[in-house]
Amino acid sequence: MKDYNHRVKGLLPGGVHYNFHLPWEETPIHFLKANDSRVWDMNGEEYLDLYARFGALIVGHGNKEYNESLKETIDRVLSVSHCDMDAEALELIAKYIPSAEMIRFGLSGTEIVQNALRLARAWTGKNRFVRFEGHYHGNADNIMGGRVPRTGEPIPSDYFGDLKGTAGRAKDSLESQSYLLPWNDADLLEELFINNGDDIAAVITEPVCVNGGGVMPAPGYLKKMRELCDKYNVVLIFDEIITGFRMGLGGAQEEFNVTPDLTTLGKAIAGGGVPVSALVGKKEIMQLLVDKKVIHAGTFNGYPLGTAAVKTTLEILSRDNGLAMTQMNTKMSMIHDILKTEAEAVGLPLVIQGPPACASYHCCNDILQTTADYTFEIMSLDIILHNNLSKNGILVSSISRLYPNISLNMSDVNWFRERVGKALLDTKEIYD
Ligand code: PMP
Repeated sequence: MKDYNHRVKGLLPGGVHYNFHLPWEETPIHFLKANDSRVWDMNGEEYLDLYARFGALIVGHGNKEYNESLKETIDRVLSVSHCDMDAEALELIAKYIPSAEMIRFGLSGTEIVQNALRLARAWTGKNRFVRFEGHYHGNADNIMGGRVPRTGEPIPSDYFGDLKGTAGRAKDSLESQSYLLPWNDADLLEELFINNGDDIAAVITEPVCVNGGGVMPAPGYLKKMRELCDKYNVVLIFDEIITGFRMGLGGAQEEFNVTPDLTTLGKAIAGGGVPVSALVGKKEIMQLLVDKKVIHAGTFNGYPLGTAAVKTTLEILSRDNGLAMTQMNTKMSMIHDILKTEAEAVGLPLVIQGPPACASYHCCNDILQTTADYTFEIMSLDIILHNNLSKNGILVSSISRLYPNISLNMSDVNWFRERVGKALLDTKEIYD
């Protein structure tokens, strides 16, 4: 694998395809094959895959039904703009996502978020949007990174490049387009609306802040957000690119019974094998696309392989009342329990938070109540545990996230049980 990394590194900046590949891994693992929840690297080492391609892989590696659907599509109709399975894919999304009165497909989460913001600006005639600390909405200049200034707790600038910020963005692209607020504080949002509501087109939020550490919304927070957006004529956008089709079929909006005006979907919507994103929302706002007042474009939007993947994924996930997801969550809860029990046994503080299918562990004593609680000290320990898990045959995502897929079975749970103790012990030694 060393030679292989050397070959790749000369051509691929950093030897990785994206900067959010864990920068502390000096030698990225290259994989040869995968099946269900297991992957094998080029040295033949086997891992339990709770990384799941940043959460996109929900159907599992080598899912027969999914693969057959994609193969059948490739052989039948590789590249046309509109295809026969569009209707089923659209109907399934509309059936399960409460805010999905109309739907447009894209490819990446990044682009579909930008389209949601554009629609919100056009609908309200206003310019800026509100975003929240710790939330991630894609690889674009106007939305990535930043932190609300507060005293203490300096964040090292090499950590994800200033918390997922970046050099080289267009001047003032963040400052001129958005307001950045701490999350889970409805009073601050109201204050901002009172002072600046005239210039605010949208609020964009992850309804559960998975990217900020798996922080759940405070009771009533999303409802209050909904009320404030209605009062100040602001479009409410839920970014459910992670929670959609992981936190149940209806996403976080169904779980919390708060319907946004627009929702962005991605990752698991197409099972994990091919890229598809979707912008869904209220008919009256989406009508701007029908009237061609707002442009939404993309060479590959609605490509056959993508819509086939969406259709088949949602068929698999919705079958028998979502049985596959229920079973996945049950197994995942077992893994959570093992992780907590084993951490306690070695004396390492550890909490697990967030929905079962996209939860995070943190090496600390208390559940994070807001994204600001996710201190650099906690992140550092989380990273150490992450690395120790991967050395012991368990891959997790984005520092500390545990993403199962529906193939997760008891043999995977046992694999986890047999290996996690060593990873925790090695982490505890550094903690001490
Ligand atoms: N929104 C959220 C909540 C995400 O987690 C991500 C990706 N991690 C994105 C948007 C961007 O999606 P993509 O990487 O497909 O551009």
